[in-house]
This record gives sequence, C-alpha cells and structure tokens, in this order.
Amino acid sequence: MLVVMKKGALEEEIEGAVCAIEQKGFTARPIPGGERVAICILHNHGPVDACLFTQLPAVKEVIPVTRPFKLVSRESRPCDTIIEVGEVLIGNGHLTVMAGPCAIESESGALEIARVVKERGAQIFRGGAYKPRTSPYAFQGLGEQGLKILAKVRSETGMPVVTEAIDHEVYDLVEHYADIVQIGARNMQNFSLLRRAGKSRKAVLLKRGMAATIEEWLMAAEYIMEGGNNKVILCERGVRTFANHSRNTLDLSAVPVVKQESHLPVIVDPSHAAGFRDQVVPLSRAAVAVGCHGLIVEVHNEPEKALSDGAQSLYPDQFFDLCRQVETIAGIYKTSTNQGCENDHVVAEVRAEKETGYGIGFLPAKI
Ligand code: PEP
Ligand code: MN
Repeated sequence: MLVVMKKGALEEEIEGAVCAIEQKGFTARPIPGGERVAICILHNHGPVDACLFTQLPAVKEVIPVTRPFKLVSRESRPCDTIIEVGEVLIGNGHLTVMAGPCAIESESGALEIARVVKERGAQIFRGGAYKPRTSPYAFQGLGEQGLKILAKVRSETGMPVVTEAIDHEVYDLVEHYADIVQIGARNMQNFSLLRRAGKSRKAVLLKRGMAATIEEWLMAAEYIMEGGNNKVILCERGVRTFANHSRNTLDLSAVPVVKQESHLPVIVDPSHAAGFRDQVVPLSRAAVAVGCHGLIVEVHNEPEKALSDGAQSLYPDQFFDLCRQVETIAGIYKTSTNQGCENDHVVAEVRAEKETGYGIGFLPAKI
C-alpha cells in the first residue's frame, strides 16, 4: 500500500502520515519522488484498509502495490533511480562502463589494466579480491591485500572501484575499501548477506543468480532496500541453460522487463554470460541496444596468464572497440527512445520512461 502525499505537502504533514501508519503497527517508509512524496507501508500481514489514511491532511490518495517487491517496484517510485558513485552516475540517461580483471593479481598488473581501461572508456574499475571459485584449489584472490591494491588504483586513476563481498565475514572490510560492493550470482539469495548490504551506505551491485527468476532477483534487491539501502544496481549476467556454446545464456529480455518493473538501474555482464572473449563484444552491443544502463566487462593485459577467467577476458584493444561500438549504439537509443526524458538534473532522478502495466505473472503482494 502506498500513501501518496499531495504535491508540496509540508514536512509535518508527511511526519503526521508516518506516525498514523506506525500507530497501526506497520512500518512507514517515505520515498521522495520527483514531484511528490509517497509513503510505502511495509510489514503488514494481510490487506490494509485504505480508509485509515485517506482522510489525513495532505494525503492525495492511497493506492495498492501489486508487486511483492514493494520498494524495488516502479509502483512505489515512478521515477528512475540514478546512483551517484563519486563523480559517476549510474541509471537512466547514462551508459556506465565498469571494466578490469576478474581478480586482482598484483599491484603493477592492476594499475596497468586500470590505466588502459580508463584511457579506453571505462568509468569504474572492477576486480575481485575475494573470489568465489568452483574449485577450492583455484586462486581464491589476494584478500585484504587485493582491497588495498584497489584503493591504490582509485587514488592513482580517480576511478571508483567495485569488488565482491563473498560472505558476511569479509563485508566490513570490503565495504571499507570499495565504492560499490558486489554480491555475486552465487550469493543472490544469501539472505543474511543481503540484510548486511541493507545496513550499508555503500552502493551494491546485485548480480542475478544463475538459476533465479526475475521475481526472485527483484525480491533479493527488496531485502537490501528494506534494510534501508536504496543504492542497488541490478546486473544480468546470464542464466544456466542446456547450451554449451557459452558459459551461461545471457537473458537480454530481462533488461526491458526489469526496467518496466523497477526504478533501479540495470547493467549487463557479458563476460560471465559468454565465457569466451569472442562473444563479449557482440553481446555488449546487444545489451546496450536493449537499453541497459551499463556494462561490467573483464579485461586483462595478458589474458592467457590470468589467474581467473582468462578465456573470457578481453584484450585491451578489443575493449577499446567495445567502447566505441556501444557508444554509437547508446547514442541511437537515446535519440530514438529517450526523447522527452528530464534527465538533466544530476542529483537523483529523472522521469520514468513509461509507467508499468506489464503482466508477467508476478505473485501479488499482500497489500
Ligand atoms: C565476478 O564478477 O567476478 C563473478 C564471479 O561474477 P558472477 O557472480 O556473476 O559469477
Ligand atoms: Mn570472473
């Protein structure tokens, strides 16, 4: 249930509505919008009687939220969320490219790759310090030393850094060093990790689980937002299918569906979807053509010597081609479909491309 305040509602009127909701034993979560504040009612078990709130001062209307992912849903926030990380913006109207090696292997290697990807078009540097590897015998990452190298990369290049927190134990440390904390595909439904991310003030890059439905993915994002962290970036990275010509199958139809269902930015990881570098550039072009807000790509200066995911890591020149090509596609997309978007104020939000109304069988919320 959403209590929508009138345009220009006073602070004390919003506070009054929050108190009225909480007096009934629910949680009230105000969501500032472009033109008006809406207050989302959380933790109600069963339907809420709208009449309880319609008569309150400055309340415009009380409307149901039909999706189970309430805070993540476009119903509760029609405007797109744009996330600011340092000087970089992620969300509608921006195409943010994150690039770097799968794993941080050495300081000199990380710095070299960082300089190259920055020069060729990346805005954010990626690199794992803690690696979730299938084999316990495979390189597990440099741990805190890797995080320190990432901090050095940031100070030398000015690029924000994204890196994975593989478990609860390392979250504090990763959060301390990273600008964006990645929750990997294998952890998408690690609910205690999601709750921990919800307590953080750092942005979270939430990858789609390799066997997760879109609804499960958005519900995972809801855990983070329910905890109080609104800075969630969704990342499609391919799902497991019968195909063996690629590591995973990139589900590009997820991008427009997520954009209709949610106000959160959605980016694509073509590298872990493909598994082979020759597929990465074509998949990136396609991802940008379907309207993703960014890419996260593995690049290595010597992929054949990489300690992890060398086969899918691009050579620097391939990354350069990728950036050039996707920039052209993003330009076409912007002029053909984004016309009329008020994406000129940098701070927080722009108008949604369009309202939702897409029926794909999500479970109804208990409104
Ligand atoms: C990664 O980005 O390094 C990674 C392990 O990705 P995923 O969780 O998507 O497999
Ligand atoms: Mn990898």
